[in-house]
Amino acid sequence: MSSEPGGQGLASTGRVSRLGDLDYAPAPESAAIVSIADAYGLYIDGHFTDPERHESFATLNPATAAPLARVARASAADVDAAVQAARRALPAWSALPGAERAKYLFRISRIIQERQRELAVLETLDNGKPIRETRDVDIPLAAGHFFYYAGWADKLAFAGFGPDPRPRGVAGQIIPWNFPLLMAAWKLAPALAAGNTCVLKPAETTPLSALALADILEQAELPAGVVNIVTGDGATGADLVDHPGIDKLAFTGSTEVGRQIQRRLAARGLPLTLELGGKGANIVFDDAPLDEAIEGIIDGIFFNQGHVCCAGSRLLVHEGVADEVLRRLRRRVDQLRVGDPLDKNTDVGAINSAAQLARIGELVAAGEAEGATRYTSACPLPAAGYWFAPTVFTDVAPAHRIAREEIFGPVLAVMTFRTPEEAVAKANDTTYGLACGVWSEKGSRTLWVAQRLRAGVVWANAYNRFDPASPFGGVRESGFGREGGRHGLEAYLDV
Ligand code: NAP
Ligand code: MG
Repeated sequence: MSSEPGGQGLASTGRVSRLGDLDYAPAPESAAIVSIADAYGLYIDGHFTDPERHESFATLNPATAAPLARVARASAADVDAAVQAARRALPAWSALPGAERAKYLFRISRIIQERQRELAVLETLDNGKPIRETRDVDIPLAAGHFFYYAGWADKLAFAGFGPDPRPRGVAGQIIPWNFPLLMAAWKLAPALAAGNTCVLKPAETTPLSALALADILEQAELPAGVVNIVTGDGATGADLVDHPGIDKLAFTGSTEVGRQIQRRLAARGLPLTLELGGKGANIVFDDAPLDEAIEGIIDGIFFNQGHVCCAGSRLLVHEGVADEVLRRLRRRVDQLRVGDPLDKNTDVGAINSAAQLARIGELVAAGEAEGATRYTSACPLPAAGYWFAPTVFTDVAPAHRIAREEIFGPVLAVMTFRTPEEAVAKANDTTYGLACGVWSEKGSRTLWVAQRLRAGVVWANAYNRFDPASPFGGVRESGFGREGGRHGLEAYLDV
């Protein structure tokens, strides 16, 4: 998710100490800009309320494993109260002229920008991702989504969905922990622009930026009940899925839970969008611009600790340049700085949870047991918290678990190919279909390959590039429906 060509997400801080005796001095962002409460309630009908059963759980800072705050666990009755509040708010909100709804969305976008530094620090504390990424990617893109969809709110009749498209009604929205505020923006902005009201369920390990967003909605004077935020665990998500009062469900998360949700909703015919997992292939041809390709490979798998649904977690490299690419790749991996996510020099932050760290460990052990060759950066890791050093596997066979399963961590599986046909066959040899990258100097070859890849997104000589105006989503087991762009409105319109 870079804002500059070539995938600059991780490109700017090579470790100087390998070149000489110099190293970067620590450059920590101060956490003082954020004030985190001891405990948070649920945001229902325009206020923070105590959960019915007074249950709560802790959210941790993954970089230290220390608790940050206690957060309410919503019960089925709390989810019901949130859905009812959204239902009450729907007639007035959907009847507002689009230009009036747009004013709220522009205001939200503006306040996110004004509070950008605070939100970046908060997201880094709760998620473990580097401050450079929250500062330069997550928060600006979240503001960008509200800004972009504000522009659509009064132009729905010109979006290609008929002369008077209507909102679906009350949208239930469930989001994961890897881009917490950004995923909230992806869900809320198009829904609100289209005149829906919402009940949002953030992930258990990263609820704080959604709760800060509730504060921003208050500041923007969004009418009560238009957005309700119910924190909790998977059971809270399931309560939202099962609630008969929702008119649409949007889910981003694992393929496994997506499958369960689709099964539960099968009899109801409820409109559903699923943004699920992936096993993206970054395909590097022998005529690729190698300096850029190396940065694209690095950004593709180590951005956000590899906790990216569209991560380029498989590298397919043309046999003729494989040795050269791997030599350069290892050198670049050694330069990645892993550690304090609040340090502006940090490239790779903390793994989001102990559970995710255990899953990465299990798959890496399977890679070794199945005979792949492991290369792990010798970088020092902090003693407390959850960490995994950047890792590259070679001698990977397409049948290995590390080539097939989503690791969702900083672990790359490298395979080679000899012909474009073989590259396409290997890239498509997955049950997923979210994203791929193609690196070649030759446009005709890139287009030939791109047309044959079964993936929702194909980047050419780039990776992890996002824009609110560009649709994003998967095929096959990566789900269905699109977020972003004009296409992203469709999920929230009764077309
Ligand atoms: P997850 O376990 O599927 O959880 C996603 C969300 O669903 C969380 O809020 C979770 O709550 C909730 N949930 C869990 N069980 C549920 C159930 N039975 N019914 C309803 N909701 C339930 O996924 P994750 O581990 O948070 O996220 C990682 C996955 O998301 C990866 O597979 C990644 O590829 C995918 N992802 C996809 C995209 C995309 O756009 N395609 C974007 C980002 C991430 P708790 O957190 O409280 O368990
Ligand atoms: Mg947390």
